[in-house]
Amino acid sequence: MSQPQLSQALQRIQPSQTTAMTDRATALREAGRDIISLSVGEPDLATPPHVIEAMHQALRDGATRYTPVGGTSAMKRAAALHFTRDLGIAATPADTTISAGGKQAIFHALCATIDPGDEVVIPAPWWVSYPEIARFAGAKVVPLPTTPASAFRFLADALEAAITPRTRWLLLNSPGNPTGAVFPADELLAIADVLDRHPRVLVMSDDIYAPLRYTGGRHATLAALRPDLAHRVLTISGVSKSHAMTGLRIGFATGPEWLIRAMERLQSHSSGNPCSISQAGAVAAMEGPQDFLAEWRDLFRARRDLVCAGIDAMPGLSTPVPDGAFYCLVDAAPLIGGAVEDDGALALHLLEHGVAVVPASAFGGAHCGLAGFRISFAASEDTLRAALQRIETAVREL
Ligand code: GLU
Repeated sequence: MSQPQLSQALQRIQPSQTTAMTDRATALREAGRDIISLSVGEPDLATPPHVIEAMHQALRDGATRYTPVGGTSAMKRAAALHFTRDLGIAATPADTTISAGGKQAIFHALCATIDPGDEVVIPAPWWVSYPEIARFAGAKVVPLPTTPASAFRFLADALEAAITPRTRWLLLNSPGNPTGAVFPADELLAIADVLDRHPRVLVMSDDIYAPLRYTGGRHATLAALRPDLAHRVLTISGVSKSHAMTGLRIGFATGPEWLIRAMERLQSHSSGNPCSISQAGAVAAMEGPQDFLAEWRDLFRARRDLVCAGIDAMPGLSTPVPDGAFYCLVDAAPLIGGAVEDDGALALHLLEHGVAVVPASAFGGAHCGLAGFRISFAASEDTLRAALQRIETAVREL
């Protein structure tokens, strides 16, 4: 039988390697294998009880019907509150929209604005889905390589050199996945100066990891620092990482109203509205207490330090200390080229030893001369210690 013909758009993209590795780890576990999964970025902590109760209440109240496409009024108000209170962006419910996770907001924003031949500048290493979504939408991906020496942050000059008349978007992600890079305000302001010279360029600022910064001080984000640029900045946030609500799939976006309406136009034909019950939970998450976030951040900092020290003590492995998010991007270059041909093979070798991680190549590591893997340290210290032991056994075998 001949192969079914897939669309050209689909042929341009690969499945998400973070979710693929996690599904693989789950399947192995279900088959009876003892696997520690550090592949997906998902807090192991329990969703706060007041969030769970709000969802129970929503079910008892019969909130099982369609909601407005871009989210309920209560949800939009709560998301606008979050953008204003936590990120310093002057958001209103009218310029805020809700989607099935931040990923869907990014998908809709790019698909709503990109024409064939447009270019999207993405700092590398990047989150797996950014280039795939951009390519699906028809864009050419322009990598902006960064290195551990510059804490995985690019300079304004490098951005200036990457922009062409076809550039449509710059994707920013601070704190960054998988690097943990956190852009300080002065560097964002220098980036804004470049953007002033290129009025066609839209900016996506993915701030989903904002509460997880280990550097102290206020979170710096473009739309807050330069409100006069807000007419072309789309800021992404949500409850998945901050409030341990990954499976509930609620993301927020705020930006110019024309773009927000365009995203909702597309959403009206894709998923329709975000899940009604999840929205009730996310309203409670945003309106309820926030003080535990600092405790969670400190917990993650301790886990980060444990993993970084453990990795640095192993032969052939090293990792910069991330300033935010919950990932270590481990450099394993000295181990590649011998028993393991590339970092994909290294990740499979680690899986054989019972630890699931994602190869750096999935995050565009090759654009930066980086071979290794990403560890998500959103797991208990005991789990991380056990994983480190397995990784050490695995690398000593090579
Ligand atoms: N963003 C998380 C990660 O990078 C969740 C999985 C995904 O959507 O990529 O692991």
